[in-house]
Amino acid sequence: MSDRYRCILLFGAPGAGKGTQGKILGHIPGFFHLACGDVFRSLDLTSPLGRKFMEYSSRGELVPDELTVEMWKQNMHAQTVLSLFKPAQDLLILDGIPRTTTQAKALEKHLEVLMVLHLVCPDEKEMMHRMRRRALKENRLDDADEKVIRRRFEVYHRETAPVLGFYPKSIVHEVPATGSPAMVLMKVLDMVAPLQDHHFRNPLNA
Ligand code: ADP
Repeated sequence: MSDRYRCILLFGAPGAGKGTQGKILGHIPGFFHLACGDVFRSLDLTSPLGRKFMEYSSRGELVPDELTVEMWKQNMHAQTVLSLFKPAQDLLILDGIPRTTTQAKALEKHLEVLMVLHLVCPDEKEMMHRMRRRALKENRLDDADEKVIRRRFEVYHRETAPVLGFYPKSIVHEVPATGSPAMVLMKVLDMVAPLQDHHFRNPLNA
């Protein structure tokens, strides 16, 4: 067996709902959800890496690639050592990484990407509205300020959107991200459930 993690990438603009869908999927046995933004936010913000994260995210910018990939590798290693993530049994749901083509290239030797799920919300106003609501609920500085939100969209279009072109078209699937979380979830499950069924068997049912 390949020692690369088999995974599904959740892809989409800020506010498209990657985190919401990823968290729900992460509760289903056999899926393991990891959001890069959550890992950054869980850092000690007085540590050097935590300070770097604050410096970039508060401006709506991406943390430099090398730091991001290194932190991701360490976090994945820790999750595996602690058996929170069991690569032979769990399908990894990655959210918020890779966010640049440099990151995608660096992750290639660690990931076997089975599917890229692109959550598409054509209405940027709606996404900004979601982000402002989240800012109030989750106390997120990067979502509170109009200027920072706009910057995040610019960065998304310039640096992150091209990542879609890095993967074969045959594994990239678009899911409309408009509607309630439950409606979007139905469409997401339509795509990911057959994949889980095909690649992973629950050892209890074997
Ligand atoms: P959202 O869910 O709104 O798209 P995230 O929680 O994923 O936002 O990310 C918040 C911030 O964390 C980003 O704006 C960025 O500064 C930093 N960040 C998260 N993931 C990455 C990444 N893969 N590369 C660089 N920076 C990242």
